[in-house]
Amino acid sequence: AKSSGKGRADLYDLALRKAASEQAALEGAIRQGIDNEELRAFYQPIVGVQNGRVLGYEALVRWERPGHGIVSPAEFVAVAEQSDLICDLDTWVLQRACTDVVSWNGDLDRDQVYVSVNISARHLARSRVTTDIEAALAATGLPADRLVVEVTETALADELSSVQHLHRLRELGVKIAIDDFGTGYSSLSRLQEMPADLLKIDRSFLDDNRRGWREVLRLTVGAAHAVGLRTIAEGVEHPEQLATLRRLGCDAVQGYHLARPMPAGAVPAFHRASLIG
Ligand code: C2E
Ligand code: CA
Ligand code: CA
Ligand code: CA
Repeated sequence: AKSSGKGRADLYDLALRKAASEQAALEGAIRQGIDNEELRAFYQPIVGVQNGRVLGYEALVRWERPGHGIVSPAEFVAVAEQSDLICDLDTWVLQRACTDVVSWNGDLDRDQVYVSVNISARHLARSRVTTDIEAALAATGLPADRLVVEVTETALADELSSVQHLHRLRELGVKIAIDDFGTGYSSLSRLQEMPADLLKIDRSFLDDNRRGWREVLRLTVGAAHAVGLRTIAEGVEHPEQLATLRRLGCDAVQGYHLARPMPAGAVPAFHRASLIG
């Protein structure tokens, strides 16, 4: 019995070490991918509910990994988040996104769009986050109020420094969005404490299998508005969802029903078509 127990411990140990070395290998590959320009920013439009205009685009990272095709963030962002590698990844996307939106806005006379970037909790807690963002704005000339930084509510709860960094960003004029709202331990009463401008309502709120989902949605939009936050509903896949959100006074929507994330090169034509249509 003793030896089999030890055997099990060895196997467990082996599995842990294997996982750790796979993680280290993937981390190395991601770092190399950043250096070799293998990352891409895709963009998904955020559309105003009242007028149907595209207000901005969310930048979503992809990895064009040689031999693997286009790898989705679900497969590598969590690994990058295990170390400060995520700061470099976020910053790469941030700079790319600011550069792209400056070039798109150059072709638009009015209704300049914003770009929305995801900043991971770990990055938000580091003091470099504000310099990374200031540097991207300075390098590209993007006006601060055309940049939205998306952070999750859990990122705010974790670290005191994170909240301070958000205050600094807001002083610069950068807009803050609370991402995935409703997936953490949030309560509507905490909304007023959040140093934010926008609330992104998680797509689980649109699940019509949940009893009373419309009422929950109505209360959430109402509470957000009461404390001065604009609302963006995520994961809108059906026209009926859009109709409900319009009735409830939600400000903006994002989801496959409007458009899937697209490569940067596809945005100008998409945007032109959206202005006509
Ligand atoms: P997220 O920030 O919540 O982004 C929204 C995700 O929902 C995206 O997945 C988007 O493609 C997907 N989506 C959009 N509309 C619909 C819809 O109608 N239905 C469904 N089912 N999904 C929809 P994606 O691009 O795979 O990104 C996954 C997550 O990876 C993001 O979730 C975000 O947390 C993370 N991520 C992406 N890019 C970055 C980045 O540059 N930095 C960091 N730190 N995280 C990133
Ligand atoms: Ca997001
Ligand atoms: Ca989200
Ligand atoms: Ca997310």
